[in-house]
Amino acid sequence: MERIDILGVGFNNLNLEEAVDFAYSLIDGTGKRIVTPNSEIVYAARSDAALKSVLNESDLVVPDGVGVVLASKILRRPLKCKVAGIELGEALLRKMAEGGKSLFLLGAKPGVAEQAAAKLREKYPNLIIAGTHDGYFKEDAGVISAIKTSGADVCFVCLGAPKQEMWMSKNREEIPALMLGLGGSLDVFAGNVLRAPKIFIKLGLEWFYRLCKEPWRIGRMMALPKFLLTVIFKGKR
Ligand code: UDP
Repeated sequence: MERIDILGVGFNNLNLEEAVDFAYSLIDGTGKRIVTPNSEIVYAARSDAALKSVLNESDLVVPDGVGVVLASKILRRPLKCKVAGIELGEALLRKMAEGGKSLFLLGAKPGVAEQAAAKLREKYPNLIIAGTHDGYFKEDAGVISAIKTSGADVCFVCLGAPKQEMWMSKNREEIPALMLGLGGSLDVFAGNVLRAPKIFIKLGLEWFYRLCKEPWRIGRMMALPKFLLTVIFKGKR
């Protein structure tokens, strides 16, 4: 499938529905990977060759942020729309519930993945949650074995970016489940963090809502103007 290059990271040009169908087709027991980089991660990948390769080698790459979509328009190779990781994750698990596929939740502080599992089971009674594990572990082996023995078809890896992308890549040969790197999604599924009201999302201002709620993010968010300036002045790469 053709990808659109944004500062060296290739994005699939799909809307949410198309991305979900494609994601579902990647559930084949061979450890495929889905990443949802925002402008901060694309900007970080400019000076981090390993991260850039990991993103580009993923089986599906969708833009989780209005910054990346805006950049694609500036570069005159427009992406259809933002595909928020959490929306892709939730739409995929809805489809998994219909198709009898099972899910493993990895990440966030101890207890949060279990809380998220309980909320998701309530919302989607047919969803099979095969297991959970928190995101603050020292050794990978126990976690890999938990995912494998659960027999999960899909694993949401929620360790924050770019840690989760590097983790998925490092362990891809050992984990047969389709892995999606979904940042802080478990905190939202658990009900501990609220997404922005719909009007903010519609206006492309979810980042602003998040900044007001979590002002410590200002440092990370400064990557957005730097990213856009780089797109404008250095365009192709
Ligand atoms: N996290 C984790 N292990 C770590 C570091 C972070 O499980 O070693 C979790 C953290 O508890 C939070 C998520 O990763 O649930 C990161 O959330 P954030 O909203 O910062 O994600 P991003 O902005 O990277 O999507």
